[in-house]
Amino acid sequence: MKTSEIMAKLQAKHPGENEYLQAVQEVLESIEEVYNQHPEFEKARIVERMVEPDRIYTFRVTWVDDRGEIQTNLGYRVQFNSAIGPYKGGLRFHRAVTPSMLKFLGFEQTFKNALTTLPMGGGKGGSDFDPVGKSDDEIMRFCQAFMLELWRCIGPDEDVPAGDVGVGGREIGYLDGMYRKLARQYNTGVLTGKGMTWGGSILRPEATGYGAMYFAHLALAKVGKDLSGQRISLSGFGNVAWGAAKKAVQLGAKVVAISGPDGVCEIPDGITEDMIDYMLVMRASNRNRVEDMADKFPGKAKFTAGKKSWSVPVDIAFPSAFQNELSLEDAQELKKNGCQAVFEISNMGCQPDAIHWMQHNGFLFAPGKAVNAGGVATSGLEMTQNAEHLSWTAAEVDERLHHIMAAIHEQCVKYGTQADGTVDYVKGANIAGFMKVAHAMLEQGTI
Ligand code: GLU
Repeated sequence: MKTSEIMAKLQAKHPGENEYLQAVQEVLESIEEVYNQHPEFEKARIVERMVEPDRIYTFRVTWVDDRGEIQTNLGYRVQFNSAIGPYKGGLRFHRAVTPSMLKFLGFEQTFKNALTTLPMGGGKGGSDFDPVGKSDDEIMRFCQAFMLELWRCIGPDEDVPAGDVGVGGREIGYLDGMYRKLARQYNTGVLTGKGMTWGGSILRPEATGYGAMYFAHLALAKVGKDLSGQRISLSGFGNVAWGAAKKAVQLGAKVVAISGPDGVCEIPDGITEDMIDYMLVMRASNRNRVEDMADKFPGKAKFTAGKKSWSVPVDIAFPSAFQNELSLEDAQELKKNGCQAVFEISNMGCQPDAIHWMQHNGFLFAPGKAVNAGGVATSGLEMTQNAEHLSWTAAEVDERLHHIMAAIHEQCVKYGTQADGTVDYVKGANIAGFMKVAHAMLEQGTI
């Protein structure tokens, strides 16, 4: 296969689907060499089949706002690849959601889920519903209307959604409540990220951030470094940044910046426990303003409008908000201010030219599909507990999460170690995820 030829065809077929094309390009570039060493992949047209989703559901979601006005949004579920297990992946509620965004996320999810060592295929869904400024009642009515359509497309052994940007524990509650009523399945529901008293797994809310810090710890150890004592920046203040901040502080790092769409909040002495707790309050408020942190903790947190976390001097940066949130200029500014490593916790958080530049300018860089896989991995653990009608202790879940992150790191090292001994984590993660899915597809025949 030739990446350029496949990309040209895809571009012609899906014009303007920029995020999706970007995600496919990155994976194809990484796997081209290995792929061409396997004529059986080429014969089975594995790449051509793998880059297209199995199916996409699109539906109208109509709901009534607090003023009694009727609102209409679009809902989607992209079932990308089921070669290694039921479709699995989150739901994103954000005003910018498009099929392209969900196709990129579903494609990434397929390889990420393969890396977790658990039997999960890849999927993603969501809506262009904008949670900002919505009341709790509006969120509930929207979730219920969304599930009225989605429930026909999903099932515990078929497709298991979870949270993503704009969808946290509260939304999962409303969505799963409606699913139970419609499907008359009361054992476990069909979503992961559920509440602790009705089938949720201990540590699922924290898992993406915890897993990211475990991964960073391993990657840093490989180059003789440690998280302890490092100044780090996060972006956003949602569920992912919250879990990451908690674990980073436990491991002795100092979180000196978080951010929001309104600007950056600098915390020169490092984030404290009460500030981490306040991140949850900020998220639940639906105001989407990081300035609220500076208002709540004057003197400790300083807000600057219109700036990103990447303008704050740190040793390590963790993009943890949205795709393409770190540009080439941001990477250059980070370097100028002494930063040496970037671990993506957001999906495709860095722009391609930024990644390329960082890889050639002494950065330790690792991609989201490896770094943030602890979230979906713990969803997989939630599915296992549900299937067994059991619930494990925090220590048990944490131990498994540790093992899984170590296994992901090991696969990246196996497939990404370069001639000079350094690890290309992008290549490693892409090849490892690809090989697993490709072999499964090959063994299952032309379907
Ligand atoms: N949305 C998360 C991700 O990007 C979690 C998905 C899940 O738990 O299914 O991996």
